Amino acid sequence: MQVTTEAIVLRRIPYADTSLVVHLFSAERGRITALAKGAFRPQSPHFGGLDLLDRIEARLVGRGDAGLLLLGSSALQSSPRSLRRDARRLAAALYSVELVDAALPAAPSPILYHRFRAWLDWLDGIEDPSNGELARALAAFESHFLEDIGLAPVLERCAHDRRELDPAAARIAYSVRAGGLLCESCARLADRPPMVSASAAAWLRSLRTGEPAPPPSARDLAELRALLDRFHTYHLERTLRARPAIEALYRDRD
Ligand SMILES: [Zn+2]
Repeated sequence: MQVTTEAIVLRRIPYADTSLVVHLFSAERGRITALAKGAFRPQSPHFGGLDLLDRIEARLVGRGDAGLLLLGSSALQSSPRSLRRDARRLAAALYSVELVDAALPAAPSPILYHRFRAWLDWLDGIEDPSNGELARALAAFESHFLEDIGLAPVLERCAHDRRELDPAAARIAYSVRAGGLLCESCARLADRPPMVSASAAAWLRSLRTGEPAPPPSARDLAELRALLDRFHTYHLERTLRARPAIEALYRDRD
């Protein structure tokens, strides 16, 4: 087998003395784990490349001893140098990388790949964004990501019994188990369910529908952060290690 594919480096794990196991997100082949033999040797075709977040053209050449795909060569297409110099943008990038690495389905998803690539390009290109701007963009990426992998929260109706939500409610309960927002009667049956403001829910919904909605306040963003955290933790059955590093993005005041 020999395949050439565009891919982003999600994770790198040293292997033996001079080699590297890399987790790649490939446009055409989804998540790949591959062995880059001798990656740390100066004469290696990977030397100086294969950094986290690098976009490469990966040439995969069959399976090696450990059953891993072998990375024959990796031509660097782009390396996000600007975002690596900014602690906040880097934190957002590393958080999203860990999320994608943990939750990415085995089946290839070119839409998801291009969304992820566009998000990293945006992070690399934006000069001195505010915390609120970064927090909104990250929430938008995560919301689309959940949608792409089929785990998007139900926001249009009650996730439990499909009843209509009260359009006048200022705050709306939700349940990760039910998979989204709850109507008033389901919320009453739940044991102290977490809540989001109607404006936060409307903004999240607008990301999907494209309908205009006022930008979320700092408080809305903090509530959406909690909602996304609960969804990720429920589906991944653990908290992401990079989660504390993005906390600073939620310190903006209205
Ligand atoms: Zn209900």
